[in-house]
This record gives sequence, structure tokens and C-alpha cells, in this order.
Amino acid sequence: MKNKKRQNSWRNSSRHQLSVRFTLLLSAAILLLSFSIVAVLTRELYDSTKNQAEMLTETMENADTENQAKWLDFLETYTSGDSSPYLVRVTLSSGEVIFSHEAKTVFNHFSSMKQLFFLDNILWDSDGDPYFYTTMAKDGATAAILVDIEDQFELIQSVLILTSILTIVILLIGSILIYRFANVFSRPLRLMNEEIGELSRTEEQEGVLTVPNSPQEVKYVSESFNDLLMKQRNSMEREKQFVTDVSHELRTPLAAIRGHVDLINRRGTKHPEVIPKSIHYIDSESRRMTVMVEQLLVLGRGEQKASSMLHFSAVLQLMLDELQVMIQQEIVTEIDEQVYLEINEDNLRQIIRNLIENAAKYTTIDGKIFIRLLQKKESVDFEVADTGLGITEEDKELIFNRFYRADRSRSSRISGSGVGLAIVQELVKQYHGSIEVLDNAPQGSRFIVRFPIKK
Ligand code: ADP
Repeated sequence: MKNKKRQNSWRNSSRHQLSVRFTLLLSAAILLLSFSIVAVLTRELYDSTKNQAEMLTETMENADTENQAKWLDFLETYTSGDSSPYLVRVTLSSGEVIFSHEAKTVFNHFSSMKQLFFLDNILWDSDGDPYFYTTMAKDGATAAILVDIEDQFELIQSVLILTSILTIVILLIGSILIYRFANVFSRPLRLMNEEIGELSRTEEQEGVLTVPNSPQEVKYVSESFNDLLMKQRNSMEREKQFVTDVSHELRTPLAAIRGHVDLINRRGTKHPEVIPKSIHYIDSESRRMTVMVEQLLVLGRGEQKASSMLHFSAVLQLMLDELQVMIQQEIVTEIDEQVYLEINEDNLRQIIRNLIENAAKYTTIDGKIFIRLLQKKESVDFEVADTGLGITEEDKELIFNRFYRADRSRSSRISGSGVGLAIVQELVKQYHGSIEVLDNAPQGSRFIVRFPIKK
């Protein structure tokens, strides 16, 4: 089973497939080449033999062959040399038959000679000797001519043997080279696979794939893989951090609540005066925790709620009326009336509330809060500024992180969980908007949320 699996994966490997395909291609090319060489050579030899035979018949036609003596004379002159390939049999009009030099023995077997199936003027005798055959008639006499083509035949045979040997040698060397090439070609992929295997085996969150310089495709895949790996590690790291932060944030108030419950248990009967204070603490801490958990759920879900075209200016005005009772600072507004935005109403209200509540929290009661809603050409700009504590340059980078609270806010004992701005940023991102924080002159901070207008 395992062997079969291995065999299958070997068969499917690019190394194997490349080798097989290239070897087949090489074989086809070499066979075609060899076949063409042999075919062209055979054709040439056939044509030249045919020409030779035609030359003889032409000479025969033009020669003076009136009688038997002249025929014998002709045959003696043109066909009797040792190197002459011609064998001629002449049947005279009188019925008499004469032969050229040595032709008689060959013509004796003429009836038992075989024809080549596609070229009927190539004949074979029982010894395997090949001949080209043609006839000619003149003045009542007929001449049968055989041209000995053994030499040509041997030449073709030698070429055939040579090309076969060459084909085998080239195929052997070629397939070894192709296999090596395929091996080299697929090595980066195999190495990559091994490295990925190692990476997934180790528990450590370290190590990346080696990025080879070539081939380009493997380089790109390794780079993308490394990118993905980094993103995944970062997100895992963030998740881990999130869980740690949440448990840390919840542990302190929970411990305090337990402390107060213990206190009531131990001393409640004898000193009932501790009860209201502890109950008040438990009440305010559990409320804070409820708000925090709700906000965390918004962050955790990260999903986009159904949105509709909202009259931003109206929603903002309504919320200001609601918030006004809780805010002691003076609120200065500049609100364009006809500002509309496609957004979910709960999300919009949360963005507005978090920013305005922060401005109120971090500004003394004699300070001011400025609220602007402007319809710009490319965007809708919502701005909340205050004359409060302000934010240092280092904190500007950090306040959007979950649970981050600037030291000044912690030490000044302003209540909060550090997730308000993280939520605002998350929501703004969902609508492809941006948020930035600047200093407010002469004092305080300015938050600007920009929603792009869909075209
Ligand atoms: P929280 O207000 O619950 O602490 P946020 O995420 O809303 O959490 O804010 C994070 C931190 O950013 C705050 O702790 C505070 O230090 C700082 N911050 C936010 N808004 C303001 C503001 N208007 N003025 C000064 N500091 C601010």
C-alpha cells in the first residue's frame, strides 16, 4: 500500500513527468530524423539507379542492333565489364535469346524472384541479392534489364545500422541528461516542500523559507509563503496578546469584587456599615466590566452590520442632545446640515459616542469641546476636538491599540478600559475610512474621522 502510494507520488512528480515527456519528445525527434535520412538516401539511390537503367535503354535504342551479331557486339561493349552492374537478356524477333556477360545464371532464376511490395521494379533473388528491373522493346526485339543494386543496398543497410546505433546512444545520453535536468529543475520545489514540512513540525514561531534566486516562480511562491507566514504569526501573536490582555483586565476587578464579597461575609454581620460601600464598589465595577465585555464583543466579532443611507447630521444632533445632560463642558458645534453617509446606525452612534465621551473624560469641566461635521468633495469629515489633557507624540501611536491607556489617564484615575479608540478605529476601517489624532491649539487633542464618498 505504502509502496504503491510512493510509486504514485513518484509518477506524479514533476521530475518524472518532465523526464518522460522530454525523453518521448527526443525519441520522436531522433526517429524522425533517422527515418528522413534513410528515406532521402534511398530515394537518391533509387533515382540514380533508374537514371542508369534509362541511360542504358537510351543507348540501346540509338545503337545499331540490326541482327544478332550486332546485339552481341552491343552487349559486349556496354555490359560486359567486371564492374558493370547490368545484366541483360534480349529476345530477338526470331525468338532467339541472348544474354550479356553472366546474365544467363541470374535470369535462370528470374521466375522465382520476389518483388518489393511497394516498388514493383525492385526484385530479390533467392540469395537475397537485390536488382532494379526494367524492359525495353526495339524492332521486334525485347530486352529485359536487371541492374545489380547490391552496393546501394549495403550502403542503405550501413546507414540504417549507424543511425540506429546513434539513436540508441543519443537516447541513452539524452535521457540521462534530461533526468538530471529535471532533477535540478525540481530541486528548489522539493527543498521548499522539505522546509515547509520542517516549519510545520517545529513548535517555535520562528524560521522562514529560503528564497532561491531562480527559478523566478519558486522565488515568488517562497516570498508569498513567507509573507503569509508572517501575517499569520502576527495575527496569532495579536490573538494571544488579546486573550492575555482581556484576562489581565478582568482579573483585577474580579479579584476586587471577590475581596469585597469576602469582606461582607466576614464582617457584614458585626459591621454592617461596610456593606453599602462594598455594594457600591461591586456595582460600579461590574457595570464597568459589562461595558468592557460588550465593547470587546464588538471588537471580537469584527463583522460588518447592514448599512443604510443615514442622515449623519441628524443622528449627530440627536446624540448631542442626549449627551448634553452628562457633559459639563461647553460644546461648540459646526455641523453641515445635509450630510448623508452609508453606514450602520449602531456603528455610527458608537463612533460618535466614544469620541465625544473621551473628549469629555479627558477635559476639565471649564474646558471646551468642539464638534464639526463637514461635507467635503471627496469625504465626510467628522471631528472632535477638546482643550483637555492632550496626547503626547508617543501616545498618539499607541492609543488605538486595545487596552492601551496613556499614563496620564491611568494616574489621573479617569475610568476607562482602553478599548474605546480601538473600536472606533476598527469600525472606521470597516467603512474604508481613516482616523487621525492631532494636537489642538493651544491645548488638547483633535480626532478627525474621514469617510470617503462612494462615487
Ligand atoms: P479609555 O478612554 O477607556 O481609556 P480609549 O481607547 O478610548 O480608552 O482611549 C485610549 C487612551 O487614549 C486613553 O486612555 C487616553 O489616555 C487617550 N485619550 C483618548 N481620548 C483622549 C482625549 N480626548 N484627550 C486626551 N487623551 C485621550
